Amino acid sequence: MNNRVYLDNAATTPIDPEVVQHIAEAMNNLWGNPSSIYQEGRTARAAVERARKTIANILNASIGEIFFTSGGTESNNMILKCAVRDLGVTRIITSKTEHHAVLHTAESIHNSQSVGLEFVNQDHRGMIDMEHLKSLLENSDQKTLVTLMHANNEIGTMIDLVEVGQLCEANGAYFHSDTVQTVGFYPIDLDKTPIHFITGSGHKFHGPKGTGFLYMNSEAILKPFIEGGAQERNMRGGTENVYGIIGMAKALEIANEKMEERRQQVKELRDYFADKIKATLPSVEFNGCPFSNGHFKTLSVSFPESDKNELLLLNLDIEGISCSGGSACSSGADKGSHVIEAIHPGTKRKTVRFSFSHHNTKSEADFVADKLKAIVED
Ligand code: PLP
Repeated sequence: MNNRVYLDNAATTPIDPEVVQHIAEAMNNLWGNPSSIYQEGRTARAAVERARKTIANILNASIGEIFFTSGGTESNNMILKCAVRDLGVTRIITSKTEHHAVLHTAESIHNSQSVGLEFVNQDHRGMIDMEHLKSLLENSDQKTLVTLMHANNEIGTMIDLVEVGQLCEANGAYFHSDTVQTVGFYPIDLDKTPIHFITGSGHKFHGPKGTGFLYMNSEAILKPFIEGGAQERNMRGGTENVYGIIGMAKALEIANEKMEERRQQVKELRDYFADKIKATLPSVEFNGCPFSNGHFKTLSVSFPESDKNELLLLNLDIEGISCSGGSACSSGADKGSHVIEAIHPGTKRKTVRFSFSHHNTKSEADFVADKLKAIVED
């Protein structure tokens, strides 16, 4: 067992060694500027286009629908802001449990422009109320963008992309899903999914940080968000992150090949851990609906309010266990989780998110469960 146990794979994942090697080779051989017309440039351009093809094939999209960005945050920003600017969207429907890359972007659009913002009802597990979404869509003729994440990064609760997509389609609404937590973990077939936009982030599936992409359906063409160059077929100015793009595509290729094997392994381990801590600490509860409609890698555990539980994350860290209180991006701010507040308003219970990967082992799960019991019952 390593010195530390890393159980925060929803925040980021260790890069795959094969991806590191792939990037190192690209750094040595593909340093040309893809926009240059001479050989070094053409070689780099060809590699970027191969990466695009890999990603498009895995998602069953066409290569013209995939655009590289710096990550999930940029992709989400671009889609929401440009949908308003370029597609005439005057109303955004979203949920209170979205990642801040969507939620704060939607709020900022709403506060600075005359764009309506509505939240679909959710139950205590974070499940979307589809009847409410239907009525929000049917009772307005405004041009609407629905943005609902595929799997929640804190509690794992998922939506059915096809079901939401069909509802949006029937009501003439654009549909975006932040699929950052599911790309590389669940099969996504964009040819069979009525959806206009999705977003991906390389570091969530064992690829490099600062890499991402967006899918833009040919029925919803946006204009550039970052201007200043003709890169990405005029959609995003700036010299391409060649090494990152290549590394991300390689990571997705591996994740896709090993998807079923990893899913079984990770789910089994997560469920084993859940059973074990429930048996030893009966007062714990699980947020969301991890076993019926949740991402298989995520377990959001809620502990009763107590002085000891206030310091749970710190004590786990001291014991060599890395996990988080919610989303990594807001952990520095030490504010309560907006996701937990949305599903359990006013709760005083303490949440710890454990998120697993294929690198984790049963002995790590045992170790963490034992340490948890010792800390909580100390
Ligand atoms: N959306 C979700 C659901 C996420 O979990 C994250 C990362 O935490 C992001 C967006 C942001 O992605 P990135 O770190 O690539 O900007």
